[in-house]
Amino acid sequence: MEKPKITFDTPAFTYDELESQLDAYEKNPEGYKHDEPSIISIRQGIRAGRAGSVAVGGCLLHHDKLISENMSKANSPYHRLDLHAEMVLLNELEDRLCDDKKPGMRNYTLFTSQEPCPMCLARICFSQVGKTYYVYRDAHSPEAGELTNYERMPEGFKILGSRLVVEEADCSPVLKEIARQVWLNSIDHAVDEWLERY
Ligand SMILES: [Zn+2]
Repeated sequence: MEKPKITFDTPAFTYDELESQLDAYEKNPEGYKHDEPSIISIRQGIRAGRAGSVAVGGCLLHHDKLISENMSKANSPYHRLDLHAEMVLLNELEDRLCDDKKPGMRNYTLFTSQEPCPMCLARICFSQVGKTYYVYRDAHSPEAGELTNYERMPEGFKILGSRLVVEEADCSPVLKEIARQVWLNSIDHAVDEWLERY
């Protein structure tokens, strides 16, 4: 059978250039309330990309206070394809909350540099993490489409998630474009690695 083909835009900048753009960006928390966690998530995304995974990162807040940040570990050091950034962060949190029967998940906020995939959205619904914000969503990329991934979840998940917020982050469009470019630097190579495993 023929190997499936998915084409993505060619990135216009390297990780080094994108990191410089991030350093040069002056955050504007009054204008965009999610600039700060968005920048942290993108930096983690660059880390993930440099390590060989899809360049997505994220962070977790508890009552608006940063409690952790991490990155996708799905392709590297070896293929653990469940370890998207969201999963890594929620794994850590659930381990930390292991003795807590009523952890008040509504008080946690998850940030990611890219729109969560359906696997991570299912986990978000199961875990009941109160709010999830993603820096960038590319409605034109082949894996996206008109509807958000969250809008396309099966009905049962929508019921589970009916009290949750899952939306694009309120951050500068400058950061959204940097997040997109970061991701584009990693996606071709990662997809090819998955398909080569067939
Ligand atoms: Zn995912």
